[in-house]
Order: sequence, then C-alpha cells, then structure tokens
Amino acid sequence: MSILPPPDTGFDLEVPILIVGAGACGLVAALTAHDVGAEVLVVEADSAPSGSTALSAGLIPAAGTRFQRDAGIEDSADLFAQDIQKKAKGENPQELVDLLAGHSGKVIEWLADKFDLPFSVVTDFDYPGHSRRRMHGLPTRAGRELIDRLRTACEAQGIDIICNRRATSLFVDGDIVKGVRLEGPNGTEDVGCNALILACNGYGGNRAMVRQFMPEIENAVWFGHDYNQGDAVTWGEALGAETLHLGAYQGHGNVAHPQGILITWAVITQGGVQVNLNGDRFWDESQGYSEAARAVLAQPEGMAWTIFDSRIAAIARQFQDFKNAEAIGAIRTADTLAELAEVTGLPEANLTTTLSEIPTHGTDAFGRSFLGESLKPPYCAVKVTGALFHTQGGLRVNQDARVCRSTGGVFPNLFAAGGAAVGVSGSGDSGYLSGNGLLAATVLGHIAGSAAANDMKEEHGHA
Ligand SMILES: Cc1cc2nc3c(=O)[nH]c(=O)nc-3n(C[C@H](O)[C@H](O)[C@H](O)COP(=O)(O)OP(=O)(O)OC[C@H]3O[C@@H](n4cnc5c(N)ncnc54)[C@H](O)[C@@H]3O)c2cc1C
Repeated sequence: MSILPPPDTGFDLEVPILIVGAGACGLVAALTAHDVGAEVLVVEADSAPSGSTALSAGLIPAAGTRFQRDAGIEDSADLFAQDIQKKAKGENPQELVDLLAGHSGKVIEWLADKFDLPFSVVTDFDYPGHSRRRMHGLPTRAGRELIDRLRTACEAQGIDIICNRRATSLFVDGDIVKGVRLEGPNGTEDVGCNALILACNGYGGNRAMVRQFMPEIENAVWFGHDYNQGDAVTWGEALGAETLHLGAYQGHGNVAHPQGILITWAVITQGGVQVNLNGDRFWDESQGYSEAARAVLAQPEGMAWTIFDSRIAAIARQFQDFKNAEAIGAIRTADTLAELAEVTGLPEANLTTTLSEIPTHGTDAFGRSFLGESLKPPYCAVKVTGALFHTQGGLRVNQDARVCRSTGGVFPNLFAAGGAAVGVSGSGDSGYLSGNGLLAATVLGHIAGSAAANDMKEEHGHA
C-alpha cells in the first residue's frame, strides 16, 4: 500500500470516476454516479462482489420512509440522529450523524424505486437503542441478497465491475489523486481517474491493525470479509488525511459456536438471556449485541449459551441465517428444564435457579427490564461466542464524503464512504447502534457517488 507520483508512461486506462471496492458502498456509489450521468468503473479485489455486505443481515436503518408510514410507524431524521448519538454517548461529529440520518429515508426509497429493491421494515421486534422500528431489509433478511441485487442493478445499468483487481498504490500529485495501481492475474495495471471513491471498508481483516487499535478484541473470531485490510486508512495516513475513532468497532456476542453462524439478536430482545458455562447470567443483554462480544469473551472458555423459546424462534426464523443454524442442528430444543440442561451440558440446578430469577415484569439484578412474556417450553438454546464484525473508525469526511486533511480542508477529488470512512459509533464497541454499518455504506456511498459525479458535470461544463 503506497503513494506514488503519477507514472511517467501514462495510464493503461483512464476513467472519470474510479471506485475501489464492490460492497454495498461501492455499488451504491456507482449506481448514484451513473444516475447523475457520470461514467464509473468499480474495481474489486475478490473474485465477485461480496464484501462484508454479503455476510451481513442486510438490514439498513432509515427514518421517515414510506415503508414505515405504511406500517404505521412515525419516525423522523431528528429522532434517528438522537438515537445514534445516545448510543455513542454523543461522541460522533454531529454533522455526520445529521447527514446520515437525514439522507437515510431518501436513499432507501431511491434504491427501492429506481432499482426495484423490495425493502420492507422489520416490524415484529425492536433493536436495542432504536426508539422506532426502522430497520429495512430484503425478503431473505440476508446481505447476500442485498449485494446480489445491487450487482444486478449495476449490470442492468451497464456499470463495469472488474474483479480480481486489488488496488495497491495511489498515484497522487500534490493533494490531487491521479489514479490507482491495480494488481491482478495479469500483473499490474495503472488506471487514471478524475475522482477516486474509497469503498474498501475498514481494517478488521488486518490482525496488526486490530492489535494496535482494539487489543481487547484481538483474539475474537474475525467474522467480516478478509480483504478488508485497512487500505483506506493506510493510504489516508500516508497522505496526511484525518482519521477518527480508530478504536471503534462492531462486535457481536451471538455467533453460534462452532458453526460460525450469526444468531439474530431478536432472540434476546424478545426475552431470551445469555448464561455462561456455569449456567449463570453475567450481564444486561439489552445493552446491545456489539458490546456482547466482550461480555461473552470474558466468560469461561469465552463461551455462553443463549436461551430462548419456540415463540421467539418463530420470529427469528425470518432470518435465513437462523434457518441455516436450525438446519445444521446449532439450535437445541428441550421440553423441560431438565432436558435443557441435558442438551446444553449446563448444570441443571444452577440453570433452573438462573431462569427462575428472571422477572416477568420488572428489572433484574443486572438492571435489565423485562416487560414481555416469560420463557416457556419448548425451550431453545444455542452455544455462542463473541466475534469482531467490522471496524468503525476511519477517514474523516466532509458533507460531500470528501476526505479531510489533518491540517484542515479536504482532498478535492478523494472520497471515502462505508467502512473506509469513520462511522457514527463513537470511540469503542458500545457506541454501535444496529445498522450503523450499512447506514454509512449506503448513505455515504450515495453522497460520495453524487458529489463525484456532480464534480464531473461541473468540469465538463467549464471545459
Ligand atoms: C456478520 C455480519 C453481519 C452484519 N450485519 C449488519 C446489518 O444487518 N446491518 C448493518 O448495517 N451492518 C451489518 N454489518 C456490517 C456491514 O456488513 C458493513 O458495515 C458493510 O457491509 C460495509 O460495507 P462496505 O461496502 O463499506 O464494505 P464491504 O461490503 O466489506 O465491501 C468492501 C469491498 O472492498 C474490497 N476491497 C478491500 N480492499 C480493496 C482493495 N485494496 N482493492 C480492491 N478491493 C478492495 C473488499 O474485497 C470488499 O469486497 C454486518 C457485518 C458482519 C460481518
């Protein structure tokens, strides 16, 4: 990963807008720029568009959408912005929060109307920290469907996505990016561009950077996409770009072990609990799934059992991942507490006491409020561990998603979005509000694509 002066011999290819990374961010940026009328090229290190986007549940929070109105949900960008800041204890730049919350509804509706993405809002359970139901997802509630539909939309628009090409160097003259060196099966290719959008996510796949910036999660399972090696931050730091909150990340404390399947946090928000291998509760699970990773990893063997029941399983079944976990036997079921102890291997007496101490209506010793139905047989249980999903620190950007210089001002033709840019999750792990990842990928991707394309129009107009 290096910064080079423009090649003396010129470029092998020149494009107006070059986008590095074909996750949700890169593809939304490409669709937007194309929609505004600019020519774009997306380059992707992997053999097909996938990224962490494909590994996700594909749920994107957005406020004030018609999907919400149709479901009778009243929401506003202001309320959404307040929820984001509350979860992150006010640590985010307010203007970035307002930008993302303010554009979220518009972007979801644009993707639905323009490219036929059949979003619906999740109406049957709450996500921690969201004061309104605003998670929008596709029918399978799986990120694979999101990326496949975005790729299909790009193909239908004639947008070129070249895979098996890793960007390794930026060509820069002063503070203007001139192009990118790609490594691929046929060696290196140098591509010139008028604007560059970094959509290559964060540094969760880079062990050294994880150790440096978030040592507390260093030993967790890495659950994101391996190609997310922190290239945007590495280039940005070499260029003198401003970075922010490099210790921020999203963990998840509900990954089925040893199957490695994400179990939706709905099993907790609907009344489920986590117990350690002694059968003891150990924290207030309602705080959120990101900080759950650290809570679970601090338990004996870094493991826990998530206990819920068949009513909750019926809700969780809208997620393809949950169905997959059931299909391969990760979800154990039991008609009695004795059987639950048997199928989990947890000490029966302790497990029985622990579950009997959960209040039906009221607050438990950890400060968690239970307002819904108590757990009833048949019971369900899944053994889980904590994982690192993606990093939330990154390059600081302005209202156009242009990368800020650490000395003030911006790099005029360098944009960053999605996991390449700093998110809105504060400085650690507990500031992550559900959906912050795809919020930054889709909304900031849209803003970057639009700003870069409008620059092209202006340049054209001045020519
Ligand atoms: C299991 C899991 C579940 C999640 N669930 C949710 C959820 O429900 N809602 C939510 O909001 N967020 C969720 N997230 C987070 C979310 O997936 C990410 O925040 C989001 O996908 C980031 O999008 P992106 O386009 O920035 O990155 P990605 O989707 O990771 O795409 C980046 C792409 O850039 C490519 N790339 C990297 N470096 C280079 C390079 N040098 N040259 C060329 N290509 C490069 C990579 O190969 C990759 O394809 C989840 C994450 C995980 C791991």
